[in-house]
Amino acid sequence: MKTQVIQVYHPIDPCAFNEPGRALREGQIVAFPTETVYGLGASALLPEAVLTIFRLKGRPADNPLIVHLASKEDVQHAAVQIPPVFHVLYDAFSPGPVTYVMLRNTDTIPDEVCRLSTVAVRFPSQVAARALIEAAGVPIVAPSANISGKPSPTRATHVLQDFDGKIPYVIDDGSCEVGVESTVLDILSDPIRILRPGFVTAEMIYERTGLRVVSWHEQPEDGEKDFPQAPGMKYRHYAPSARVIIVMPRADETLDKTFADTLEMHQIEKPAIFTGDRTWRALTERLGGDTADTLLPYTYDGEHDIKQATHSLFDALRTFDDQNVEAIFAEGFSEPEAAGYMDRLKRAATGVAEEESINSLRQILFLCTGNTCRSPIAEALFNDRKINGWKAVSAGLAAYPGMLISPRSAEVLHEWGIDADTHRSQPIDDHLMETTDLVVTMTDAHRDILARLYPDRKDDIVSYSVFTKDGRDIDDPYGFSLASYRSTRDRIQEGLDHLLEELRKRY
Ligand code: AMP
Ligand code: MG
Repeated sequence: MKTQVIQVYHPIDPCAFNEPGRALREGQIVAFPTETVYGLGASALLPEAVLTIFRLKGRPADNPLIVHLASKEDVQHAAVQIPPVFHVLYDAFSPGPVTYVMLRNTDTIPDEVCRLSTVAVRFPSQVAARALIEAAGVPIVAPSANISGKPSPTRATHVLQDFDGKIPYVIDDGSCEVGVESTVLDILSDPIRILRPGFVTAEMIYERTGLRVVSWHEQPEDGEKDFPQAPGMKYRHYAPSARVIIVMPRADETLDKTFADTLEMHQIEKPAIFTGDRTWRALTERLGGDTADTLLPYTYDGEHDIKQATHSLFDALRTFDDQNVEAIFAEGFSEPEAAGYMDRLKRAATGVAEEESINSLRQILFLCTGNTCRSPIAEALFNDRKINGWKAVSAGLAAYPGMLISPRSAEVLHEWGIDADTHRSQPIDDHLMETTDLVVTMTDAHRDILARLYPDRKDDIVSYSVFTKDGRDIDDPYGFSLASYRSTRDRIQEGLDHLLEELRKRY
């Protein structure tokens, strides 16, 4: 599929959005800018389109999507029994980066959007976003347009990094003004709670409306919460491949001094620095030419400026990722209005475990018989998720070396925009076993045979049947119709979330 980039010209001509608007209405996917980050849009009314979003992002099915609307009157299409406080908050913050959790209108919004009695609703202020939603004429679900776990996109080029060739349209209107996702408010609870910190803080809500809401940092630790939460907050997010080290300013010294000390402590060969340009200049003067030359900076205009830092954070993380840096030293903020920024930065910092170096990816090996149908599909689907710290390979118990992936396996992967043409089959051997952390076999029988060959590794060999919905093997589709290959692909895909859960538990 060729991805068409639609450039936005201002002032906006509403007709410019007729084509992507119709595409959305008909169930296609359109990525578009909002004031927070770029969203991956689909019609909220079409379960198939909604499921495509989950699949493209590799998003866990229990992490619900936000429904985006163009005008306040449309709220009834998404929610019922609207609490009066919605109107107060709407007048103060919408259109804008605030999301309201209300009771879901189950007549219109399908379970695929949100498997809860509630629904999250937002009214973006970005003009192109509004024009597009109006042109579509339907409510639009739009999670951030990135592979789950990667830093969110704040430019059209970021969207293309993850989805070029996989979606029909990207609307390009430059960089996003805010730079982090919306603040999610549970407006059904009393007092209202912030379920996800964002640009709008509890302090801003109090200032503008007089309403006291429970801020993000006032809430008990995870696990002790006895009220509804934003299901997405339990996932690692926003993680670049590099290690992230947060440099918190200290009361009694300048920020450039703190940066210099932290750099000294970590002794990284080519460290990346994210801070304001004034801090950066002071730091280079302090370190002197030769040392400063070893640093890779990404700076925003000014000094210790939370708005500028928020605007640039995700672009900085992605830029450093492209440059394959080993570690990123990023400026921290302790001010209350930095809750959203610090939440994203801390998640980025824990995305890669401390002891894990970027060169030591863990390896998962999928095993079947010939290594031409099932295991290459599993390998490709796993790698397509771009799981932080992991890579997948595959092999066969009785494989000829060097065979291509079977044509029908290649075809069902192509249907999902995944290319496995470079695959070559290989038999399992000692070296592969040594470099592999976990082997996942397509059937229980494969598991038993391999465990007999490598009794010491018995605990590192599991059968895919423990991850499938029905608890059954992934049977060989070889020689069967395209439909059987599709079903193989879909059953492997269905089990992937459980498999990832297992990886989180084990490692
Ligand atoms: P994203 O689409 O990536 O910006 O994420 C949306 C966020 O909103 C996630 O943290 C979700 O868990 C949260 N969310 C969506 N719907 C609901 C809901 N009905 N109740 C609570 N949180 C929600
Ligand atoms: Mg997201």
